[in-house]
Amino acid sequence: MRTDPVVLVVEDEPALRRFLRTSLTTHGYRVVEAGSLREGLAMFTSHNPEVVLLDLGLPDGDGMALVQRVREFSRTPILVVSARGREDQKVDALDAGADDYLTKPFGVPELLARMRAARRHARPSEQPVVEVGALTVDLERRLVTVGGEEVHLTPTEYRLLALLARHVGKVLTHRQILEEVWGPGHARHTHYVRVYMAELRKKLEPDPAMPRWLCSEPGVGYRLVDLET
Ligand code: CA
Repeated sequence: MRTDPVVLVVEDEPALRRFLRTSLTTHGYRVVEAGSLREGLAMFTSHNPEVVLLDLGLPDGDGMALVQRVREFSRTPILVVSARGREDQKVDALDAGADDYLTKPFGVPELLARMRAARRHARPSEQPVVEVGALTVDLERRLVTVGGEEVHLTPTEYRLLALLARHVGKVLTHRQILEEVWGPGHARHTHYVRVYMAELRKKLEPDPAMPRWLCSEPGVGYRLVDLET
């Protein structure tokens, strides 16, 4: 019996689909392909893939629709494969529940790394302690340390950090952060996030001007990740 993880590629450009199929098959994935939104949804249901690579510009609609539909019943990681210059699309897709995005053109090592990360973080690890480099967030004890030293955070700073820690490795959009930390109705107050992120960096980062863990995704949002590994 085959146990290679199944990846669903939803992409209408034959050349890119071929490239993805070859690269992913070489690296131990079983690839199922769809060239349209409708086909993508059908394949998702019939193959129950472990991860989805999704193009947004599809002949019969926006890939966003697939994100929304799938998120009604599944937490399977979805990586958006997006053309450069469509930052608004990326943000919408992440807000709708996509896990990450890749900007075309991208290399195979980056693709594989992001797929590994998405699969790792999709597992509902009830891991109460999240470690990112020397930074440790103990979600059960609400304890934050850097290099073993406890760092005191305000309640809002902690809520922000804990949110990022619960989704470690995943990009969270400004809107997601505002809704989770400050509640609905704050969607336009992106400066809140900027201000609190600056405070968190001052308290946690070895060099707040060159963040290593609390990383910006320009125009999109933030993610907690260790850039050193
Ligand atoms: Ca396309």
